[in-house]
Amino acid sequence: MLRLVNVNTYYGPSHVLQDISLDVEKGEIVCLLGANAAGKTTTMKTIFGLVRPSSGSINFDGQDIERKLTGDIVKAGLALVPEARRIFPRMTVRENLEMGAFTRANKKEIADDMDHVCQIFPRLQERLKQLAGTMSGGEQQMLAMGRAIMSRPRMICMDEPSMGLSPKLVETVFDTILRIRSEGMTIFLVEQNASMALSLADRGYVLQTGKIVLSDTAKNLLTNDLVRQAYLGG
Ligand code: ATP
Repeated sequence: MLRLVNVNTYYGPSHVLQDISLDVEKGEIVCLLGANAAGKTTTMKTIFGLVRPSSGSINFDGQDIERKLTGDIVKAGLALVPEARRIFPRMTVRENLEMGAFTRANKKEIADDMDHVCQIFPRLQERLKQLAGTMSGGEQQMLAMGRAIMSRPRMICMDEPSMGLSPKLVETVFDTILRIRSEGMTIFLVEQNASMALSLADRGYVLQTGKIVLSDTAKNLLTNDLVRQAYLGG
């Protein structure tokens, strides 16, 4: 469904993504693991046209998207849950969710999806009128995920959804990811929390200073020596 082939991305002279190739099949959860500054967020930004690759191709569901505008990529069916959530703090929960549907016009479908999101996240239903910036980190993460679902995507990319959350909330977030997948969603997940990510992913890639150094099933990665030493605390 998503395929990156030999993608190279620079910030000025700094060669941040070096020949990145990866793919995500329909219905899979695939994770990209990496330490600080490995290039995980840059990978997401490159997929969504927020940073342009200097070379390489990015294909989503049969369309080349590496030169498309971000709004058109979202319209094509790919949604992003950005790093640090990036909700709109001065807007209500309802308004934030509506923003997720900005590429769509059918009001009835949007209302149905709002109901669906509230069913997945009852906490958001209770707080539809609350200013999003006054919610807890965990609630804001739910909102960021709900907002992504509101674009009615076929695939969701999530940038470190566990960041800054307590272990209990991380579990809630990961349970929700599994629920969304069980409804047919394809998910690409970027994470520093390797043990949690590998516990729910089908496959994973390991990114080190801009290069993919390993790719395998999540089960094999969990027992891989490099992964254990570098990401699972030995
Ligand atoms: P983290 O988990 O800390 O967010 P990451 O794996 O997501 O790390 P990136 O944010 O992709 O890493 O950053 C990769 C490298 O690119 C880092 O060395 C970072 O300093 C650099 N970088 C990121 N954004 C820019 C930018 N706008 N201009 C210049 N360099 C940047």
